[in-house]
Amino acid sequence: MARYDVVIVGAGLGGLTAGAILARAGRKVLVVERSNSVGGAASSYKSGELFVEGSLHETSDPHDPRDPKHDVLTRAGVIDAVKWIPSGAFYRARGGPLDQPFLMPDDFDAARRALTERFPEARRGIEQLLGEMARIASAMATISQGREALKNPRQALRALSGLIPIVRDWPLSLSKKLDRVFGDNEAVKCALAANLSYFHDDPTTLWWIYFAMAQGSYLQSGGRYVQGGSQRLSSALARAIKVAGGEVLVRRVVSSIALGDGAKSITHTAKDGSDPRTVQCAQIIGNAAPAALEPLMQADAAEQLNQSYARQAPSTSLFALTLGLKKPPREFGIAAYSTQLLPPWMKRLTDYAQGAALMAEEPGERMPPMSVVDYAAIDSGVPAPPYVLSILGPDLLSN
Ligand SMILES: Cc1cc2nc3c(=O)[nH]c(=O)nc-3n(C[C@H](O)[C@H](O)[C@H](O)COP(=O)(O)OP(=O)(O)OC[C@H]3O[C@@H](n4cnc5c(N)ncnc54)[C@H](O)[C@@H]3O)c2cc1C
Repeated sequence: MARYDVVIVGAGLGGLTAGAILARAGRKVLVVERSNSVGGAASSYKSGELFVEGSLHETSDPHDPRDPKHDVLTRAGVIDAVKWIPSGAFYRARGGPLDQPFLMPDDFDAARRALTERFPEARRGIEQLLGEMARIASAMATISQGREALKNPRQALRALSGLIPIVRDWPLSLSKKLDRVFGDNEAVKCALAANLSYFHDDPTTLWWIYFAMAQGSYLQSGGRYVQGGSQRLSSALARAIKVAGGEVLVRRVVSSIALGDGAKSITHTAKDGSDPRTVQCAQIIGNAAPAALEPLMQADAAEQLNQSYARQAPSTSLFALTLGLKKPPREFGIAAYSTQLLPPWMKRLTDYAQGAALMAEEPGERMPPMSVVDYAAIDSGVPAPPYVLSILGPDLLSN
């Protein structure tokens, strides 16, 4: 029976990144992926003439040493394996309580200027909030650097709590924080968080510190797209694993996980369940969601995994639609790489939460908030025509 130091269930960005770091650190690694190619959500591919970007259309610049991905992707050996193309601005927001479109730059100083020019009545709040976000984003940068950083969420939280004296309103949700800073000025709140579905679907349950870390990393380092599509990043990670002596198997489904006291093992099969093979290992990393891993495990281990997630609600889901157009989107009013469309029924930022529930049925006239991404607006490397427009928005697993 083959024996590995680490077997990883799933070749999404999480599994591939872990695999590349471990393989480059000398571990014998096997990654098993049930799909035809690696990448999971971070996949791009062609369907006929149409290029489809599965997910990653905007991330903060990993080349910035302050970016939390910088150290991780450097250790995985892929930071220079792809081109990180600037997204121009962070996003253009329109609709909802905004009477005119608002262009959000991907830079703290420019964002402060654009917001205060547009919302002069909220100047003090804008300066306070962006100042706090900048401090949180730069503290995250310090915390995430070095090999010992962010080993687990509890450690990260402890490190973050060092910020308590310099950040106001530590325990508040995003909506409570924005209420405290901006009162009932819903337009400025929506301008600041129009892209909420990048992270979450409900400002009343999102911890404002998390929002500040995530949104702040774009404003600190700038937005980027992986030129040519997210598949290039996923494939580069898989290559890094192989170059370091690891193995990546595709079209193989992990069908059981056995966690013994020393030796552990997994069994993987062909997609139709035939050809079972069992491999032993010292450690197993589950890249698949807990709900997908539980049925593969023995009852007591599954229960233990279940208990460790029992108090967590499933995080946000996204729906995604890809359109292939005859004309460049700029010819009919799409004026930025990333546009956040807020529907007319949305009067307050907290209305965002209703958007995810809408996708339980055909939304009809009442559309959810949506991100619209025009790959022809930047040097994306996405082939055209057809001109590719990605449309995504909040959804729920329960839908
Ligand atoms: C529409 C959309 C847009 C997004 N846009 C952005 C963005 O612009 N910027 C950004 O930073 N993030 C974005 N994200 C988020 C980002 O893409 C994901 O968080 C990330 O790719 C998830 O990686 P993962 O490894 O955690 O999981 P996944 O990609 O889900 O990987 C899990 C893998 O496990 C495999 N698997 C499951 N069960 C088994 C089994 N039994 N055997 C073998 N393999 C198995 C699956 O096939 C899959 O490949 C977006 C996500 C979506 C859905």
